[in-house]
Amino acid sequence: MFDTLLIANRGEIALRIQRAAKGLGLRTVCVYSQADAGAPYLEIADEAICIGPAPARNSYLNVDAIVLAALQTGAGAIHPGYGFLSENAEFVDTIQAAGLTFVGPSAKCIRTMGDKVAAKRAMIAAGVPCVPGPDSALPADIASIKAVADEIGYPVILKAAGGGGGRGMRVVRSGDELAAAAALTREEAQRFFNNPDIYIEKFLQNPRHVEIQVLCDAHGTALWLGDRDCSMQRRHQKVIEEAPAPGIDRSLITEVGERCANACRQIGYVGAGTFEFLYEDGEFYFIEMNTRVQVEHPVTEMVTGIDIVTLQIQVAMGLPLTLSQSDIVTHGHSIECRINAEDPYSFLPSPGTVTGMVLPAGEGVRLDTHIRSGYTIPSQYDSMIAKLIVHGEDRQEALVRMRAALAAFEVQGIVTNIALQADLMRDGGFVAGGVNIHYLEHWLTARSAQSGAAA
Ligand code: ADP
Repeated sequence: MFDTLLIANRGEIALRIQRAAKGLGLRTVCVYSQADAGAPYLEIADEAICIGPAPARNSYLNVDAIVLAALQTGAGAIHPGYGFLSENAEFVDTIQAAGLTFVGPSAKCIRTMGDKVAAKRAMIAAGVPCVPGPDSALPADIASIKAVADEIGYPVILKAAGGGGGRGMRVVRSGDELAAAAALTREEAQRFFNNPDIYIEKFLQNPRHVEIQVLCDAHGTALWLGDRDCSMQRRHQKVIEEAPAPGIDRSLITEVGERCANACRQIGYVGAGTFEFLYEDGEFYFIEMNTRVQVEHPVTEMVTGIDIVTLQIQVAMGLPLTLSQSDIVTHGHSIECRINAEDPYSFLPSPGTVTGMVLPAGEGVRLDTHIRSGYTIPSQYDSMIAKLIVHGEDRQEALVRMRAALAAFEVQGIVTNIALQADLMRDGGFVAGGVNIHYLEHWLTARSAQSGAAA
């Protein structure tokens, strides 16, 4: 048990976690970098401690400074949020060595899931459907690699076992390209992730991104909380998320969800997590597990009525989940638009001072944001400044509410992607539902071609 929670993150998630912590009657400690001094969410913290200069490696990634801040303030637990140290097993080791609680799974689970080959092996063992390809790293000799690729059939994708952030991956369309591609990917794997292991799997041409949220306690209860569709992506970054995934057979989702919960029981997973899948031609293919709370968790909260972050903290306290799988019923439809401080054409970040704001409101509208008028968005971090989330009785009502909310939402003084999101909410393909992961990139290319033709 702990009565004080340190939040090792910034921005909207630092605020979101504080809301949950305060709801549980906990004291909160926020750590911040010099670039975040004066951020509004620090005002509601019971204590705020500067842990270093702006660059994340000197502050939000500084394990020793964060653990020291926890010890100094009497925080018994650390919530990592997402990004930064949230999937760093050494961070968990250090926290536990200091006698503190990490709000998340064990270092062992993080290590298994962080190694994509080990993760794939664990998922196959648990009966979770995976992308066709071996569950082991590739041997060094090219003749063996070629034999494996021939068996899978082209196109294939080579991936770094230790990869992440969309790096260390290469699509190979024919046997002639294989040797050079394997050498390059292995070299990148070593350089970026300090692990030369690479593996191979079938490259799916036009999949959707569909994921399953899980939540598990330390007493053997593992629940799955429905699905999300996050296919609207630019450069592998999610732009719009929704729950449930439109047009997919619910009995298939249930089957996959149950297998995910089962996998959690098998690996002894504790906390919130997400199984990410590619979905193509009616089949699910596991690609990776995120062992933390995700940016898009609110759409699941809206359709299930479950406060994921609160339960995540309670589970870390050692409390049992009092829900059972049959209590989890999803209702209606939820959509989230990520609002970024960026140019909607060039996508260049547009940090600066917010000079005024008009906030969307109304039935079924939720805004998760840490910004307010007068706030200066630092240039050093992610450009996401808000998450606009809506809920409706069905997808149509959610779309109507999102259009109205985006039309009402104004952030003055900086450039945002609000108008882009508004266009997407009226796009025929998105409105129809079920677009694949390339849809938004193609849409953006077509838009550039059109504005070029108009000029
Ligand atoms: P990372 O951990 O770097 O994000 P992922 O394994 O999650 O890597 O893959 C990132 C993205 O790469 C996926 O969302 C998908 O767009 C693409 N991708 C990965 N594996 C495949 C595959 N087998 N077929 C097609 N696309 C893939």
